[in-house]
Amino acid sequence: SIAAYPMEAPASQALLDRALAVTPGGVNSPVRAFRAVGGTPRFMVSGHGPYLRDADGREYVDLVCSWGPMILGHAHPAVLEAVTTAAGRGFSFGTPSENEVALAEEIVARVEPVEQVRLVSSGTEATMSAIRLARGFTGRSVIVKFAGCYHGHVDSLLAAAGSGVATFALPDSAGVPKEMAAETIVLPYNDLAALEAAFAERGQEIAAVITEASPGNMGVVPPAPGFTEGLRRVTTEHGALLVSDEVMTGFRCSAAGWYGLEGPYAAGAPDLFTFGKVMGGGFPAAAFGGRADVMAMLAPLGPVYQAGTLSGNPVATAAGLATLQHCTPEVYDRLTTVADTLTAALGDELGKAGVPHVIQRAGSMFSVFFREGAVVNYDDAKDQHVPAFAAFFHSMLSQGVHLPPSAFEAWFLSAAHDDAAVDRVLAALPAAASEAAAA
Ligand code: PMP
Repeated sequence: SIAAYPMEAPASQALLDRALAVTPGGVNSPVRAFRAVGGTPRFMVSGHGPYLRDADGREYVDLVCSWGPMILGHAHPAVLEAVTTAAGRGFSFGTPSENEVALAEEIVARVEPVEQVRLVSSGTEATMSAIRLARGFTGRSVIVKFAGCYHGHVDSLLAAAGSGVATFALPDSAGVPKEMAAETIVLPYNDLAALEAAFAERGQEIAAVITEASPGNMGVVPPAPGFTEGLRRVTTEHGALLVSDEVMTGFRCSAAGWYGLEGPYAAGAPDLFTFGKVMGGGFPAAAFGGRADVMAMLAPLGPVYQAGTLSGNPVATAAGLATLQHCTPEVYDRLTTVADTLTAALGDELGKAGVPHVIQRAGSMFSVFFREGAVVNYDDAKDQHVPAFAAFFHSMLSQGVHLPPSAFEAWFLSAAHDDAAVDRVLAALPAAASEAAAA
């Protein structure tokens, strides 16, 4: 049966009122505030498998999955057991411990070009450290990024960023010194000519190009055939490093992330990779890694400093390891099947309702843009009818389906999305499509 939840959510609203008194905007990460879609953000109390339950006791099929980490669904029994066992042995030692070795081994075994990794606690730390390392290794300072790609809230990577920055239509962030922003060149995604021109002009100054392996932070915008290959070719020609940010795609698009689907590239592999989300299983664990000669520049071996009190935390690494160990071929097959079913039904219903739309996919990650025609870069992504998304979102929410509260985010699936959960989403689509048509 389809849920019919009212727009008002009194228990969540009461929590929001308390939160607003002590936290800016009432949230600890901006997109959670529902600013782009309006209404009361739902305060969740529990999650099991494909479902979340909010403070008002309403149940939702979760298509956010904590923005990616919960690939096995919420409170997966094997991960819960690993976490409980690890926590029973102590929470943090501030020394090396075995779980972090095992997690590093698992990552190195999966992603062929990654010879060594350093564990950190968030995707932001991973990209921040990777670009510092690239600068230290090359002795250069300029970083190239692509508009609409989000790499965390690193000062020099906040220029024309996706995710929350896109959701709120912010050009950039206040508080980033202009000297810092001047060290970042922002180029349109999927435009090799623009890349070649930038390297022709400033090639000797460029330390690295950082790219989302397959962007998901302006909605899903996969690389055009040959684009990533071109990034590798041009960076190699100019002695710059290529950093592939797989925080979102890593261990989600395949066992070896996006690289597992698209690599190896004829022009060679990326030098550095960043990971997060899935590899932490819902706990704060992330990583950067790659070529051993580059990684050897890191302290304590080399002059590039990087550290963390909680880096390699035994509970977080236990969660990440258990999650990766349960990411079997069957898990990836299930994600593909569910993505096939949902994208087909979404396209059908929006089509029937006469809503202009395009659905784009990278492995099991997908999103819908409310416009006609393929989206290849950030300008295209912004050129959509955002009010249609808001109407669609609220209709889905009232029918018990939890989507990302922004038109610029990927939808995430888990292997726990069984047929019953998928059927609930399917049942909600027709009404949501007609709301989008009316917006
Ligand atoms: N890189 C990418 C591609 C991401 O999607 C994100 C987060 N959505 C980050 C980096 C930053 O990760 P975190 O939020 O863990 O700092």
